[in-house]
Amino acid sequence: MSASMSTAAGAPSVSTGGDGRFADLHLHTFFSDGTFSPEELEERGKGVGLAAMALTDHDTVEGCERMAQACAAHGIEFVAGSELTAEFDGKEVHLLGYFLDTANEMLCAELKRFQAVRQARIEEMVRRLNLLNIPLEAESVFRLANCRSPGRPHVGRALVQEGLCGSLDEAFDRFLKKGRPAWVPKCKVDAMDAITLIHQAGGLAVMAHPALNQGDELIPQLVRQGLDGLECFHTRNVGHMPEHYMRLAARYNLLVTGGSDCHGYSKGKPLIGGVKLPGVYFDKLKEARRQKARAGAA
Ligand SMILES: [Zn+2]
Ligand SMILES: [Zn+2]
Repeated sequence: MSASMSTAAGAPSVSTGGDGRFADLHLHTFFSDGTFSPEELEERGKGVGLAAMALTDHDTVEGCERMAQACAAHGIEFVAGSELTAEFDGKEVHLLGYFLDTANEMLCAELKRFQAVRQARIEEMVRRLNLLNIPLEAESVFRLANCRSPGRPHVGRALVQEGLCGSLDEAFDRFLKKGRPAWVPKCKVDAMDAITLIHQAGGLAVMAHPALNQGDELIPQLVRQGLDGLECFHTRNVGHMPEHYMRLAARYNLLVTGGSDCHGYSKGKPLIGGVKLPGVYFDKLKEARRQKARAGAA
């Protein structure tokens, strides 16, 4: 199997030989900060010819059941997942959990806790905006977000909707970016605990977009903690980055995953279809899950 990179319309896309099956294993809906419903997302996935999709909303698995149904109706393989915001050595690390048992008690309790932290952070951002005489109400943000996992983009969109900022970019530049006056540090779960949480819910733990978090040096330590895979293909992994992370994955015996990180229209245009993970890597992920389940049952 040979992998080659091509760049179309500024977005990296991965194309390979093989049997032409592709997966996108990093997708968001309006259950976190995306704009698509699970059904719309599945429809888009079908439109760009995906054979498999994983839903990885931030700190929630709420959209998984609807997405599973939508995928089943069109013969698309579905993986229930979530993207956990964690921290390690003072650095932010995003961990993708795949094949999660969405009814797992500890997972549900912890996700609920992470969601409460997110909601408190929104309230604090709004409080700081109010101190700057920006008359935004937390209720407007929660109404717009309409989900249990609200985030900064929702605050930005509420500022635009209320006419308090001209654009999302302006909202981030003036108030919400790291270091700006309404920015509030995230309270994050320890990456080690996040990996353990994913594992005890039957899932595989994958480090998301390592380049975005400049987290290369964390990889060996996360591997010791049981990290299963590395997101080598991602919209923001351009140039030689996929090859670089493929080499790291090989060195540490990690699974190779990839996805577009599509948020619908919440951050520009929909990215789905821009990154297509060749089916062979998806097959390896499924095989690893089967092996793990067998080892667990033994
Ligand atoms: Zn992320
Ligand atoms: Zn994401």
